[in-house]
Amino acid sequence: MTTGYVFHPEYLWHDTGTSAGVVPANPAAGIAPAVHIENPEAKRRVHELIHASGLLGELMIIEPRRATVAELLRVHTEAYVQHIKTQSDLHGGGDAGDGYSPVGHGSYDIARLAAGGLIELVTAAAHGDITNGYALVRPPGHHATADAGMGFCLFNSIAVAARHAQAELGLARIAVVDWDAHHGNGTQAIFYDDPSVLTISLHQANCFPPDSGWTTENGVGEGAGYALNVPLPPGSGHAAYLHAMHQVVLPALNRFAPDLILLANGFDAGVFDPMARQMLTAASYRHMTRLLIDAADRLCHGRLVAAHEGGYSPFYTPYCALAFLEELAATTTHVTDPLAVVVAGYAAEPLTPQQQAAIGEATQLVSRLHSRVTTS
Ligand SMILES: [Zn+2]
Repeated sequence: MTTGYVFHPEYLWHDTGTSAGVVPANPAAGIAPAVHIENPEAKRRVHELIHASGLLGELMIIEPRRATVAELLRVHTEAYVQHIKTQSDLHGGGDAGDGYSPVGHGSYDIARLAAGGLIELVTAAAHGDITNGYALVRPPGHHATADAGMGFCLFNSIAVAARHAQAELGLARIAVVDWDAHHGNGTQAIFYDDPSVLTISLHQANCFPPDSGWTTENGVGEGAGYALNVPLPPGSGHAAYLHAMHQVVLPALNRFAPDLILLANGFDAGVFDPMARQMLTAASYRHMTRLLIDAADRLCHGRLVAAHEGGYSPFYTPYCALAFLEELAATTTHVTDPLAVVVAGYAAEPLTPQQQAAIGEATQLVSRLHSRVTTS
């Protein structure tokens, strides 16, 4: 079993500027410039920890390349791709669409390198060079729709890789699991009428985008039933996410029987994250990863390919990511979660009736999925 890893220094060079957290600086309105919340620091520290822990030596390095325009156009409109290029060509950069998605000078090429990195990782998995893999890419992608950037996302790398897998690699049925704390609205919208791609998003209810990711969003037309959402109440942690995995994600994957599982791997449901109010620990991510690996082994020759999405705590995201990647590579390092004692209480929080009800609603939708698995 081999685990692939994609990283490139250029991912850290995507320049999100001096917004005050997420809001563009505007001195006249009293908004002083500060560091944008989606900055390289957490990602840099993830990569450094993977290296310093010795884990890097156990991974197969997959070199990224820039996605071609033709590859982007499988998902995005021509006008949108051109818009990102135009914004990127501006000396001071611009925005991808919603005013909260900075495009730095040159970010067009970096976003193509993110999407292309995921394409290369999926290709390696399809060819059997690796069993599974992790692309530590920037900028993130899961909020980007076909024609609009949103929530720090420029190109939807996961969607581009899914379409590439279908068009070039003979992988017909793709499941996208998204456990970023925010709704995977872009990926959902891109595949909303398509039964060949199942999207499952676990997220904090009504967080970002606002009023998005309800269980009523379930797909349309041929794709009816193939979009699943589990909007979890704020404060959901280990027990709620594990319950959602067992009640919704795993049964849905079993019914759908994918050829490939893609993971929108956000660590912003971590307990110290500033961008959401969920309570996962590094141990939670490890446990959830184990469940997905088992599903991939059972259903699609272990093919589980993850793209980094959110995760904004520079000091805790690296330990969540290391736990995830250790599990993926079926190994451990000498590094343990230095905050394990501090977060133990959070992890012990029992499932609440509100969480159980929210997950129960999603559970009922799983039965709408046509089952390809024949029972004997
Ligand atoms: Zn997020």
